Amino acid sequence: MLRDTLKTLLSAWGPSGSEHNVQVTIKEMLHGHVDNMRTDVLGNLIVEKFGVDDNAKRIMISAHMDHIGLIVTAIEKEGFLRVSNVGGIGMKQSEFRHVVFENGVEGVLCSQPLEGDGKAVIKDLFIDIGAADADEARGMVQVGDMAVYSPDIFTLGKHRIAAPAMDNRCACALLVELLMYAEDQKNTIIGVFSTQEEVGLRGASVAAYAVNPDIGLGLDVTAWGDTPGTKIPDIKLGAGPAVKIKDNSMIATPLVRDALFEAALEADVAVQREVLPFGGTDGAAIQHTRGGIPAGTLSIPCRYVHSACEMIDMRDMDGALKVLLHFVNIVE
Ligand SMILES: [Zn+2]
Repeated sequence: MLRDTLKTLLSAWGPSGSEHNVQVTIKEMLHGHVDNMRTDVLGNLIVEKFGVDDNAKRIMISAHMDHIGLIVTAIEKEGFLRVSNVGGIGMKQSEFRHVVFENGVEGVLCSQPLEGDGKAVIKDLFIDIGAADADEARGMVQVGDMAVYSPDIFTLGKHRIAAPAMDNRCACALLVELLMYAEDQKNTIIGVFSTQEEVGLRGASVAAYAVNPDIGLGLDVTAWGDTPGTKIPDIKLGAGPAVKIKDNSMIATPLVRDALFEAALEADVAVQREVLPFGGTDGAAIQHTRGGIPAGTLSIPCRYVHSACEMIDMRDMDGALKVLLHFVNIVE
């Protein structure tokens, strides 16, 4: 079930460049459901499920496995850790956060008091791991180790789930389920569980070049405009997945965008039209490789993106899965 797949994936530790735990979990889930699997130098997991049509198109669908995190840059003599961001860590979202390292060491992410009325920046952050001094701290973590927001997963109302790694494990869950449930589909699905998206679409860029698909699709979260004081983008939770028209990295190729609208119509799923004035997804990495590849993105509306409480609505997830199951059959 989509909800169970999602919860399993949300608990896997995996900041950019250290996605191996997520990769192993997905490999286990897909065992027996796909025709082949491989990994590449950057850690992308690339799986294929062959289409039945003689003229099957090769559709690369990419969902990134990594999530944002913090990397230790220095250990102070009092035992506090100085950090830098791995991806888009917001200052407002990082005050007094419970964080965890891969080896299980836990800490509190804090921001030191500022002099005057300056604005906090990343160098004002530190992690308190409970060490009395630098020696004790060095016995727990090293410079270069990464931490992520502790995977606190909770349900809100009937349909909503929040967790720190929702961006982008919700899309990984969708891609896993698509590969499990697509049966005798017309086109070949090349599922790419990509790495290092949060630091610049790096995994998908090399995967797209290597795969050289006929069509590309990114699966990712998008921002929201339905909470107090927030209107842009015009996206609501629970109103259906969103077909990306434009973001800061890509103008979706019309044929891919329109195939998504057609798939939604066939699947009888309401979709939203997404124009995001910032951000980018793996869809762009595919579109901009080689001589250019037709590509688009299907988005899951997500509130509070890049906080420790990224929230989605499972009805949007169910809708997205239906759209994808049709999409892989209608593209020609
Ligand atoms: Zn993302």
